[in-house]
Amino acid sequence: MVSTARTDRPAISETAMTQFIASIRGGVIRPGDPGYDEARKVYNAMIDKRPALIARCVDAADVITAVNFAREQKLLLAVRGGGHNGPGLGTCDDGLVIDLSQMKGVRVDPVARTVRVAGGCVWGDVDHATHAFGMATPSGIISTTGVGGLTLGGGVGHLARTCGLAIDNLLEADMVLADGSFVTVSANQHPDLFWAIRGGGGNFGVVTSFLFRLHPIDTVYAGPMLWPLEKTAEVLRWYREFITRAPDEMNGWFAVLTVPAGAPFPEHLQGKKVCGVAWCYTGQLDRAESVFAPIRERFGGQVLDWVGPLPHPALQSMFDPIYPAGHQWYWKADFFTEIPDEAIARHVEFAQTLPTPQATMHLYPVNGAAGRVPADATAWNFRQANWAQVMVGVSPDPADNARMIAWTRAYWEALHPYSAGGAYVNMMMDASDEGADRVRASYGKNYDRLAAIKAKYDPGNLFRVNQNITPAPR
Ligand SMILES: Cc1cc2nc3c(=O)[nH]c(=O)nc-3n(C[C@H](O)[C@H](O)[C@H](O)COP(=O)(O)OP(=O)(O)OC[C@H]3O[C@@H](n4cnc5c(N)ncnc54)[C@H](O)[C@@H]3O)c2cc1C
Repeated sequence: MVSTARTDRPAISETAMTQFIASIRGGVIRPGDPGYDEARKVYNAMIDKRPALIARCVDAADVITAVNFAREQKLLLAVRGGGHNGPGLGTCDDGLVIDLSQMKGVRVDPVARTVRVAGGCVWGDVDHATHAFGMATPSGIISTTGVGGLTLGGGVGHLARTCGLAIDNLLEADMVLADGSFVTVSANQHPDLFWAIRGGGGNFGVVTSFLFRLHPIDTVYAGPMLWPLEKTAEVLRWYREFITRAPDEMNGWFAVLTVPAGAPFPEHLQGKKVCGVAWCYTGQLDRAESVFAPIRERFGGQVLDWVGPLPHPALQSMFDPIYPAGHQWYWKADFFTEIPDEAIARHVEFAQTLPTPQATMHLYPVNGAAGRVPADATAWNFRQANWAQVMVGVSPDPADNARMIAWTRAYWEALHPYSAGGAYVNMMMDASDEGADRVRASYGKNYDRLAAIKAKYDPGNLFRVNQNITPAPR
């Protein structure tokens, strides 16, 4: 992990500390306080950091106070949204964590078809609120993931081919900048900053509120369809052609996985390795059966077919029980434009050796509506890619770590030669694991512009616990 501790920091005076604690309305938690161990936990149990202060901000005023305090006291600063980041970039050792998890609140404007989301919401909060109006906005595939981190890194999910990435639907954001100032950014206000936060992560400030465009998506025809592992090569060869040519209303990400133990999975499938596609069809429901009929008839039939009409939030939370908080988590990612036959052969090889029941590999399509956005329209560079791929080692047991990390790295290395060069920053580990050049490679031609905007708004790199963009020399 990157060393986040600062040794050149002068001690904080008693008065400054007392004033700070008194001014954070949501409270400040320090080592030794009741609840400290609970408050410092993040989603990935592999991360065990001990912040000096956790500021539980309830509003923009608290965030402004905390940003100013961190800057003035030269404290390392981490910003925590949903706490889901793989390498734990929502927390730090010895520094100040701005914990946004108390900042909730979702307001739907059904006339303007927008939703205003407070900075500490998770996607389940948003789906719950928008579904009541028969609408949705694109996010990810697990409802406990934070709106903040997922959106600022891009946001790839079930609706990417239909409606684009989360950032493609972001209309406006309220932000607290490194100097403590508060701005609203949009296409017309601070357009440089609005460009940068659409993919550039938490590098530019703390987002206290997001405004997203909504789409009339209510009931979808969706769910997982699984085939025997032996069919992996055949299914993947078909899938790579199918999903790159499919209409935007067809979403489907490919996976290799182990069928979980226990209900509701059929007993004879539990523990079996399989390949599959998690579908989300947003077209006309009365056409769905005929659209899926040829898929169902292929490959001699699927072993499990849970694809059918579903309320959108049910799809969004369908996989939550398989991936609860508190498990060990290690992943590695890359973008792919093509999946040649040799790459498929490597997938088949590694799918046979999934190291734990929850280990998996996903190929998320980023074409369709997401792929038609020009590469320089937002900071998210890889618009020409067809898939964001991630191999994931997951286990409740730390004793599995060495084995599952070795598998994840070996699998990634086997596929990397076929990749498009960079990775989706939200599915990367940190710089000590990925290497210093990985962030630059992932932003490609957009990196220099991001570095210039970083130098303008955060020249001292106060916001550096993230996939960090080095401020350009001025
Ligand atoms: C189980 C699981 C499923 C996932 N599924 C998907 C998926 O389907 N699609 C997808 O695109 N990604 C997915 N991800 C990746 C996810 O997008 C990233 O892990 C993301 O960083 C999580 O955001 P968070 O707010 O929960 O994380 P945190 O750990 O709280 O923060 C992550 C980073 O974002 C910054 N940040 C968070 N909120 C703010 C804010 N309000 N203002 C400024 N900076 C902020 C933090 O400083 C930190 O650098 C998944 C992750 C997990 C663990």
